[in-house]
Amino acid sequence: MTDRLYYNDSYLTEFRADVIDAGPERTRVYLDRTAFYPSSGGQPFDRGTLGGRAVIDVIDEEDRIAHVLEQPIEGSSQVAGSVDWARRFDHMQQHTGQHLLSAVLLELFSIPTVSFHLGAQSSTIDVAVAELDSRQLLAVEERANSLVFENRPVTVEYGQASDDLGLRKATQRTGTIRLVTISGLDRSACGGTHVRATGEIGPVLLRKLDKMRGNVRIEFLCGLRAVRQARADYNGLSAVARIFGAPLEDTPTLALAQEEKLRDTEKQRKKVAADLAHMRGRQRYLEAVPDSAGLRWAVLRLPALTEDTRIEAQSFTVGEKSVFLAAGENPPSILLATSKDSGIVAGERLKPLLAASGGRGGGNAALAQGSVSSIKDLEFVIRTLTSA
Ligand SMILES: [Zn+2]
Repeated sequence: MTDRLYYNDSYLTEFRADVIDAGPERTRVYLDRTAFYPSSGGQPFDRGTLGGRAVIDVIDEEDRIAHVLEQPIEGSSQVAGSVDWARRFDHMQQHTGQHLLSAVLLELFSIPTVSFHLGAQSSTIDVAVAELDSRQLLAVEERANSLVFENRPVTVEYGQASDDLGLRKATQRTGTIRLVTISGLDRSACGGTHVRATGEIGPVLLRKLDKMRGNVRIEFLCGLRAVRQARADYNGLSAVARIFGAPLEDTPTLALAQEEKLRDTEKQRKKVAADLAHMRGRQRYLEAVPDSAGLRWAVLRLPALTEDTRIEAQSFTVGEKSVFLAAGENPPSILLATSKDSGIVAGERLKPLLAASGGRGGGNAALAQGSVSSIKDLEFVIRTLTSA
């Protein structure tokens, strides 16, 4: 059985231990005792070195702890271990912060915690409530930070699972269990690593809320993570404020006003474009020279067919004896509009040609539209229509 040194001293980073077993490649090493924390209870494993080799994973095998090394360890029976303190302390802050937040959620709003995940960027807790509003979030954040300022002791002791231990959350473990207490606030059964007083958690920042399978997932950051995130948030908002050339706190109102203005402008642009298309259609008709059959033709090749093309077509074919044909290249598509007295029924004329070239579409007697699969097919349709 591996003696877990971190159980009684989360601040221990340097230790010596005997190698009692190692895998055939000597990259999976078992010690008589270790300060390395294995991935467990939502908290990731410690990194560091063992016998000068980088520790790349630490696995909890219940009785024993496996240390996975980047390179094989040589024959020595005793090794020196060194835990990466920056990473460990950060984990201790996030993990103790989780105890604190879970206790505050229960204290203020009777909301129990379902699960915890400590991520590389931020951490999350899932809480058993359908919804959490911004007022509650603010209350939890302020209460958690006040408890940090109070610097309450966080202590470890052991008890019997069968006793009434006053735990925040019932444990499934039996026998002797490890108890982590935040003085006057919370007692939990936990095997993780914690800071010794709430002050060491540092600032607590709550961020995103997500609804997850009937629960709410709360994203949070503690310690330097909170400071760095606040810095990144500030930098992002400052960049936006510079675009507006306004103080940061004015940007939400300005952004909203800009958005409304943009929507109005787009509406006006569409109206002007439609008016223009209408006039173009009329103009084109007036300029068109009737062919031998007395028909006025417009044949247009455009990058793409748009709503404005339809408007132009309709304006053109308001005139007597008129045929309007427009081809869009991307995607390959065609529009045919005809006046009633042209002798051409647009839908009936276009539909079989589309079918013959593997395209699809349709329309009524005055206007028909469709798409084909290639430019080659498009050329075929135009050629057939204009040579008729
Ligand atoms: Zn814990």
